[in-house]
Amino acid sequence: MRPEPSELQELVRDLHRQGSAWLPAGLGTRLDWGPPVAGPCTVVSCAGLRGVREFNPGDFTITVAAGTPLVEVQEVLGHQGQWLSVDAPWGDRQGAAAGSIGGLVARGLAGGYRQRYLGVRDQLIGLALMRADGVTARAGGKVVKNVAGYDLMRLFTGSWGSLGLITELTLRTLPQPPLRRSVCFQGGAEDLAGLSRWLLGSSLSPERIDWWNGSLAAAAGLDPEPLLLIGLASVDAATLQEQVRCLQERSTLPARVLDAATTGTWLARARGGTGPAAAAPTGATAPAWLLRLGVSPDRLGTLMQAPALAGLAVDMAAGSGLGLAWSDPTEPRPALTSSQVSTLRSLCNELGGHLTVLRQPPDAGLPAWLDAPSRPLIEAIKHRFDPAGQLAPGRLPGVAQRLSTV
Ligand SMILES: Cc1cc2nc3c(=O)[nH]c(=O)nc-3n(C[C@H](O)[C@H](O)[C@H](O)COP(=O)(O)OP(=O)(O)OC[C@H]3O[C@@H](n4cnc5c(N)ncnc54)[C@H](O)[C@@H]3O)c2cc1C
Repeated sequence: MRPEPSELQELVRDLHRQGSAWLPAGLGTRLDWGPPVAGPCTVVSCAGLRGVREFNPGDFTITVAAGTPLVEVQEVLGHQGQWLSVDAPWGDRQGAAAGSIGGLVARGLAGGYRQRYLGVRDQLIGLALMRADGVTARAGGKVVKNVAGYDLMRLFTGSWGSLGLITELTLRTLPQPPLRRSVCFQGGAEDLAGLSRWLLGSSLSPERIDWWNGSLAAAAGLDPEPLLLIGLASVDAATLQEQVRCLQERSTLPARVLDAATTGTWLARARGGTGPAAAAPTGATAPAWLLRLGVSPDRLGTLMQAPALAGLAVDMAAGSGLGLAWSDPTEPRPALTSSQVSTLRSLCNELGGHLTVLRQPPDAGLPAWLDAPSRPLIEAIKHRFDPAGQLAPGRLPGVAQRLSTV
């Protein structure tokens, strides 16, 4: 259902009175990813909640309706030389397929820009929401320095629609960096791990340090060897050049220096070639396996050399140890088995992290996530927000699904 803003509250109250299960949705581009919702469920789309409500360029804040596409927000900010410092979700960046700002926050996933600008939740300074019973609430505010009240912004980031429907968000914006350049090194995992370790301990502050495996490099049209793509930004050309020089001197691997346009082309090729964005982000031509990986950053070198990653394209952020791995979308039945993915999950756990299954072949039967140590707390919070369990049944981050529902 796609209610108009004036109809939303009445619709949600009706669903509550009827005790119906429902799922808050943005533009619906990636609803099928992650654990399946158990049983019949009404999808309530935020596509009708669209537009910029308030933009204060001087304060570097913007308030937008939750269903506004991220691309639209970036466009409005761009006119004032500002931006929202998050990666575009993979998919068609020009259209609705890029997803809504509410969907971005509800999923809470971030890309390489997290290295310098932190995660999506760190850009969020206020929100408005509707609970499962139709009660509305606000948290945070519209200024960057804001300390009053409960921090619902962090709670709702990554909530996957399980706690309530986000209707409006206030976000922190930044000036666009005027100068950008990237340096790319290709080589063995040990060399790349050493360089990344040094870089993370250095005084340089790259925007991103993306670590691709050989399959992803090949998808971008490069030699099929692992690489580090280090994105640099500055207001000053001499400073930028100095950072490039530091990197070139540090490594014995040959360095390729790229301008912003070439970096953009590489990223687009990697993500659009055989990546999750090769076709529609959902549907038959999306990759059969799409995995969210996380390990402790100092163990990333071990993960990247793991035989369990064979057959997957892998893109990890070296600073956070978080990233995505996916099978070739042109292979509807990839060779990768559930037991190989379970082995990979155990490895991620051993390396201080986790693995979330965003997409899997229909008969694979893996839980999207395992129980988090804080499961009792997560369930208690869920009960407070949604006592009747109407929202996104069977899909609560940190609570493993019963396999019978998979
Ligand atoms: C670099 C990068 C890579 C990413 N890769 C992936 C990926 O591989 N897989 C992936 O799933 N996502 C990924 N994301 C997240 C992606 O941004 C979101 O999935 C996408 O923005 C969803 O947009 P949508 O409007 O179509 O949401 P939908 O597909 O409609 O919903 C997505 C999820 O958010 C919830 N939701 C949506 N809107 C609201 C709302 N207003 N209130 C409460 N809950 C809501 C839904 O219940 C659902 O769980 C990535 C993000 C980045 C930055």
